[in-house]
Amino acid sequence: MKQTRIREMRAFVIAPGEMGADYHNQTGRHWIIDLPIANPMSVYEEYKAKRTSWGINALGTVVVEVELDDGVIGIGCSIGGEPACYIIEKHLSRFVEGQDPHNVELIWDQMWRATMPYGRKGLAIQALSAVDLAIWDCLGKIRGEPVYALLGGKTKEKLPVYATTSRPDIASHWGFQGAKIPCRYGPADGDGGLKKNIAVMAEAREQVGPDFPLRLDCYMALTVPYAIKLAKALAPYNLEWIEECLPPDDYDGYAAIKSALTGICLVTTGEHEYTRYGFRELIARKCADILQPDINWVGGLTEARRIVAMAAAYDLPIIPHGSSVFSYHLQYAFTNCPIAEFLVMSPQADKLVPLFGELFKNEPLPKDGYLEISDAPGWGVELNSQLELVRPYVRSGSKVTLEVG
Ligand SMILES: [Mg+2]
Repeated sequence: MKQTRIREMRAFVIAPGEMGADYHNQTGRHWIIDLPIANPMSVYEEYKAKRTSWGINALGTVVVEVELDDGVIGIGCSIGGEPACYIIEKHLSRFVEGQDPHNVELIWDQMWRATMPYGRKGLAIQALSAVDLAIWDCLGKIRGEPVYALLGGKTKEKLPVYATTSRPDIASHWGFQGAKIPCRYGPADGDGGLKKNIAVMAEAREQVGPDFPLRLDCYMALTVPYAIKLAKALAPYNLEWIEECLPPDDYDGYAAIKSALTGICLVTTGEHEYTRYGFRELIARKCADILQPDINWVGGLTEARRIVAMAAAYDLPIIPHGSSVFSYHLQYAFTNCPIAEFLVMSPQADKLVPLFGELFKNEPLPKDGYLEISDAPGWGVELNSQLELVRPYVRSGSKVTLEVG
């Protein structure tokens, strides 16, 4: 085994207006922010029209570089922007710098335990995720192997992909393995909104024909009765799954929905859930038929592979949210990850563009409904050197000294 240590970890934000790991950070017109999409703030009239109005993109991207003492650099990213940079540079760096990068479990556990007083879910775990992913990139580069090979190799020759999009008709022409469309209206829009939701699904079914799988993403916007009513109303259009209907903390609500919709459609969630403890709740309380961790948010690869193993014991598929190459490697490596999500991030949903925008030079794109990844070491993606990265919390030396006021 190659003896090496982590020399330094650096955390960056990217130039304003760049999408990076925060795909809601769009400056021009774009379906992801311009289409009415029901969300937790839709109950407030003044924030209903656009998710950017309440700051869905307020934090932006964080990019982490982990540099080894022989100059190898690993890259990870997440959302969290400058606040994540603060956590990474001022807190997490002490558990990373000077360490052997092979010890991913130890490093993860120390970051997790040390952030427990203020972390556990959300920003702190997103920051931790970016660090973990950068360390895995280093490990792949040390060993000259792609991350999926470090996890045990490929379980499938090619990875099927479905499209999340406002244009399921185009996605079906591209050969995707089904599409997922956003739920536009929520309980605050009353019966009129419910009828419009049904009309949107009816139109989509009409466009794509009877056999193309269709799913509905509800982005934490609904209530238990509304979700059940909507899913039952969409059954004639052969809805395959209803996603993330409720706020993530409402485990009892998810269990009620899943129980009520058995035989009608599948219930999925997990995109805004964190760590194995969160997924333990979803599994133990029978909240979902499919779990959807985001590898950039959930605790990185180290935690995601534990969740995958735990789900396998309950025969639950893992279909990760977004996260591009970071989830593709995981999905190639494990048998209970049957299909990948691809978010169609062109403004009119009529072109295939990288999920992370300009962040990487060579992010792989799906073709004819499948995603192939390279066997380049690590994640196999290279940071775009043209991109302006800013390091807001530069430290002198490799160890942080906390400013105690
Ligand atoms: Mg979703």
